[in-house]
Amino acid sequence: MSEQANPFESLQEQIDDAAEYIDASPDVLERLKHPERVLETNLSVEMDDGSIEVFKAFRSQFNGDRGPYKGGIRYHPNVSRDEVKALSGWMVYKTAVVDIPYGGGKGGIVIDPAEYSEAELERVTRSFAKELRPIIGEDRDIPAPDVNTGQREMNWIKDTYETLENTTAPGVITGKALDSGGSEGRVEATGRSTMLTAREAFDYLGKEMEGATVAVQGYGNAGWIAAKLLENLGAKIVAVSDSSGAVYNDDGLHAIDVKDHKNETGSVSGYAGASEEMSNEDLLTLDVDLLVPAALENAINGDLAEDVQADVVVEAANGPLTPDADDVLTERDVHVFPDILANAGGVTVSYFEWVQNRQRFYWDEERVNDELESIIVSSFDDLTDAYEEHDLPNFRTAAYVVSLQRVIDAFEEGGNWP
Ligand code: GLU
Repeated sequence: MSEQANPFESLQEQIDDAAEYIDASPDVLERLKHPERVLETNLSVEMDDGSIEVFKAFRSQFNGDRGPYKGGIRYHPNVSRDEVKALSGWMVYKTAVVDIPYGGGKGGIVIDPAEYSEAELERVTRSFAKELRPIIGEDRDIPAPDVNTGQREMNWIKDTYETLENTTAPGVITGKALDSGGSEGRVEATGRSTMLTAREAFDYLGKEMEGATVAVQGYGNAGWIAAKLLENLGAKIVAVSDSSGAVYNDDGLHAIDVKDHKNETGSVSGYAGASEEMSNEDLLTLDVDLLVPAALENAINGDLAEDVQADVVVEAANGPLTPDADDVLTERDVHVFPDILANAGGVTVSYFEWVQNRQRFYWDEERVNDELESIIVSSFDDLTDAYEEHDLPNFRTAAYVVSLQRVIDAFEEGGNWP
């Protein structure tokens, strides 16, 4: 692999690429390339043995012109200030591309959660919630799950916030368990929008989903649900991976069986239905109809992109392609459908959760999935309309042209004050 791209620089490059096609002043664009503010904090947390450990944590509030800051919190040893800044910026353009009334934010703690007990993770999470309390709120900044966090962490954050504020405010955070005010369909939402984007993309490109071969890199919440739902559409999942490596079978793997195996053993490796084990890099360069990167940033750089043989790439992860990889794939006519549309189901159903929380009125799963589908399909159409109208080089630029314009309009309507 060549050197790693800095995700914050990747974000800025993506904005610059789209800005060429928009009538915007350089000053306004500059504002939209930097976060409004970043909280950096050091959590000192008591471990089970009585010692104290310090964890670095961040919350970046990138832009609030279209509504409260919105975005997840990730727990990962590689979390950094620049990564959180980039992820918060991607949220701004993601919420704008699906046209929901939010800005963008993101948080993270530098921690490998696998190394800590549940009680320690609870204390780490509540300590971060205490630090976040003055800057979050139902109308201010609304966190959610991201890599290595889920309902459990969201429930702790909600409880800490409500206890310290002496109120009930379930809409302060989304991705909660149902009994804590969560929404039906939220867990599956990210993978569902990936499936819907792939379905619309195949339709747009005149490709058949029935029997299409699919490789999925990453088998967490986004990747495994996308695999399951694509399988339901008749696609053949030939390869999936996680950090332990990839499993392959030309005749197709069974998404749910692989997930059961991962739940039992901790990884996809060793799955009995596989005919071959391979590396993540091998998976990313398989000759498949559809490739779904669903792990972390920078999975495919410029060098690897030269070897990608998939016809279509749909990004379930945030930022899995470096700008160099984008250039190579555009040049090679590989169609990439970007993260800010394909994984926007997560934040879209977070929006539905927040609406339900504010109204204290809850929807059934069918309503959630129907409303999600109509938002993803109409956003997909906005993107392909922009692609054709401006004769754009690729669909990522189209997504940024659409979303950047919406953010600029909101900023200019409000004016620059004070
Ligand atoms: N972390 C998810 C994302 O990257 C979900 C954010 C949310 O629901 O606010 O889109």
